[in-house]
Order: sequence, then C-alpha cells, then structure tokens
Amino acid sequence: MSYEELTAGLNLCSGERKGSRLPCRGSLYKCSACGQVGCRQTQNDACTTQGFSAAGRCLHCGAANSAEVAS
Ligand SMILES: [Zn+2]
Ligand SMILES: [Zn+2]
Repeated sequence: MSYEELTAGLNLCSGERKGSRLPCRGSLYKCSACGQVGCRQTQNDACTTQGFSAAGRCLHCGAANSAEVAS
C-alpha cells in the first residue's frame, strides 16, 4: 500500500451512507477519550461507521467534545 493510499484511508471515512449506500468519504475524527475513529455527521445514524453525533459526542464511549481531527 502506498503512502497516499494509507493516508487517504486514514483521513476519509470508508463507511456507507445509510439509506443511499453511497460512500461516505467524510472527514474522520478521533476520540481523545477512547481512541475511536469515525466520521461526524449532522444527523445521528447517518453512516455505517459514524463515530460522533451531530453534537460532537463520541458514539463509542459517550464523551462530549472529544473529537480531534485524525491525522
Ligand atoms: Zn462516514
Ligand atoms: Zn470515545
């Protein structure tokens, strides 16, 4: 795997939009509390690998305002 593929995979969500099944490709964020990585959506339950709610709350551990830009 090339460096570009590696970083692209880290920075873009690989999940699917629920309902449309289109690729999400949203920006990924990392939870500073539990380390979970996922995208942040304006609606809850919008992506198969959504990690954060519209309010920025981690969907894994429930921490608020814990989303950091994944790099
Ligand atoms: Zn996503
Ligand atoms: Zn978390």
